[in-house]
Amino acid sequence: MGNMMQVIDQIELYHVAAPLPAPFSPSWMPGTVRNAVTFYLVRFITDDGVEGWSAFTGAGRERAGLGDMLAGLFLGQNPEDIDLMAEKIHIMAVGGNFNWWLEPAFWDIKAKNAGLPLYKLLGGTSDRLRLYASSGELRDLMERRDEAEKRFSEGFDTMKVRVHDFDEKVDIAQVSDVATHMQGRMKIAVDCNQAFRLTQLGKAPRWTLDRARRFADAAADVGLAWVEEPLYGEWHEDIARLTAYSRVPIAGGELHLMGYHELARMIKMRCYNIYQPDAMWTGGVQQSLDIARLCRAEGVQFSSHTWTNGFGFIVNAHVFAASGFADEMVFEYPLNEPGWVPEGRDAIMKAPWLHDRGWFQMPQTPGLGFEIDHDALGRYGKLFFKASRREVHWMPEALKSGA
Ligand SMILES: [Mg+2]
Repeated sequence: MGNMMQVIDQIELYHVAAPLPAPFSPSWMPGTVRNAVTFYLVRFITDDGVEGWSAFTGAGRERAGLGDMLAGLFLGQNPEDIDLMAEKIHIMAVGGNFNWWLEPAFWDIKAKNAGLPLYKLLGGTSDRLRLYASSGELRDLMERRDEAEKRFSEGFDTMKVRVHDFDEKVDIAQVSDVATHMQGRMKIAVDCNQAFRLTQLGKAPRWTLDRARRFADAAADVGLAWVEEPLYGEWHEDIARLTAYSRVPIAGGELHLMGYHELARMIKMRCYNIYQPDAMWTGGVQQSLDIARLCRAEGVQFSSHTWTNGFGFIVNAHVFAASGFADEMVFEYPLNEPGWVPEGRDAIMKAPWLHDRGWFQMPQTPGLGFEIDHDALGRYGKLFFKASRREVHWMPEALKSGA
């Protein structure tokens, strides 16, 4: 690169809708059927040709105007200056646009410049991550047993199930049955997905502290590994009360948009036993690692959330591999056959993120460690914004039939 400072020369934005092999109905969005993985994709290109990529979940045209902001904030800037990049992302956040998912793209460039996989640049030494299988749909009891047996036969020793019923007896039966069935072979965790409410297409139960206490009692009685997000995410005092009461670890923290400072307050309040920030929401790679450090100092645990798309999975894998928690905690591997499988989810990458008997081998190529499949991107993605230091193009037509 010589003595000249490297700068961002070009920015591209795509909307991608890659088909899934079968419909997927996430438990946390009642009434939703997804037939595709949909996301916004950004590509930063430096003046010396280094590319940084990232992607963020997006249903339709809600980020159509993002390019206007990106061009003004990032063209001509030094992508290696992560603090400055984060400050610019914060400028967007002050205006109500939360885009922490852009920050990993600068780390992609920085790690490529260094010739290292990102987690090694960050000081990580964990080349292999122990995974837990993270399911995504509601199931009846027998189907859940079958699913757990299948994951166990594939090499997983921990699986996370979902509950989202109005009747708490149904939820308790779900975890009690599968935990008892798999006892001594596989650990079961549960995600209640109460921290945020996605009720635009269907109704969802809202747990009270009393309901969460009863559920935590039932979960402790059958030895669950943890109970995730059993209360609304802003009810910090109630979450801390529940955690103080519970005999089973309480986990959460995936989507706190204020990033480090919000989660730091929650850590000091003893809200959760296990913190699960997702770098794409909670302040990027840097703030997620800062949260991991604070978790260590405060004697609580850390394991990143990953459930968005292949980009979110690998960004958080680098964070987790560098967090210092990879030897003691399991890491989220989204897997919900037949719809939500890596081959569909990661369709625009040359290779999907597969597991090996419940382990994940960290990629060893410089940067985030994937190669974009440009043919697949051409099929499933639409370029809708393109800017360089010389010219700007916005292609609203490209978004008209998107998603
Ligand atoms: Mg969760």
